[in-house]
Amino acid sequence: LFITIEGGEGAGKTTLIASLREQLEETGREVVTTREPGGIPIAEAIRDVILRKENTAMDARTEALLYAAARRQHLTEKVIPALTRGAIVLCDRFVDSSLVYQGYARGLGIDEIDEINRFATDGCEPDLTLCLDLDPEAGLSRIRASGTREINRLDLEGLAFHRLVREGYRLIAQRYPRRIVMLDANRSADEVAGEAWTAVRAKL
Ligand code: C5P
Ligand code: MG
Repeated sequence: LFITIEGGEGAGKTTLIASLREQLEETGREVVTTREPGGIPIAEAIRDVILRKENTAMDARTEALLYAAARRQHLTEKVIPALTRGAIVLCDRFVDSSLVYQGYARGLGIDEIDEINRFATDGCEPDLTLCLDLDPEAGLSRIRASGTREINRLDLEGLAFHRLVREGYRLIAQRYPRRIVMLDANRSADEVAGEAWTAVRAKL
C-alpha cells in the first residue's frame, strides 16, 4: 500500500506521517516512512543541490528534472522494494508536489511535468494521497513559530507563490478525485490525524 502526503509549507505533513505510522504499526504490518526529494543518499544529494540557498541560478526546468531524477532513484531503491515485500509506504511528497510546484506555481505546465514524471515513475502510482489544505499564511507562521526547520532557498518565495501552490493542489485533487483526499489542516493535529486514519483504514 503506497500512501503519499501532500500539502504546502507548514501544513503538518511530518506530524501526520508520525501519527499514521504509530497507528499503522499496530496492525502488525511493516511501515516504511520516507520523503521526497530524498529518502536515500543519492536522492538526498540531489535534494541538497535543489534546495541549497546559494543555488539561486537554478533554471526551472533543471529543477523539475532534478526532482524527477531524485524520484526515480528513490522509487527503484526504496519504495518499490518495500511495496514488493508487502510494506505500507508513507511518503512525504510525491509526483503531485511536482505537478503543483513546478507545473502550476512555477508555470511549466501540469501536463509537461506529468510527462517527465510518467517517464520517472514508469507506472508506479500512490493508492491514496492525503493532501493537507491550509492557508499559506497560517502555514508559514507555524514554521516560524516552531523554528525547527531550516529555511531554504525555496521557502523564500513570496506569499503569492504559496497561494498558487494551495490553488494547484485543489486543481490536482479535482483531477484525481478517487486517489486524493483533501483534509482541512486548520484544525488540531489529532483531528486531522483522525480523519486521515478513516481514509487510510478504508484502503487496508
Ligand atoms: O517537504 P519539504 O517542505 O521539506 O520540501 C522542501 C522544499 O522543497 C520546500 O521549500 C518546497 O517548497 C520545495 N519543493 C518544491 N517542489 C517540489 C517539492 C518540494 O519546490 N516538487
Ligand atoms: Mg515537513
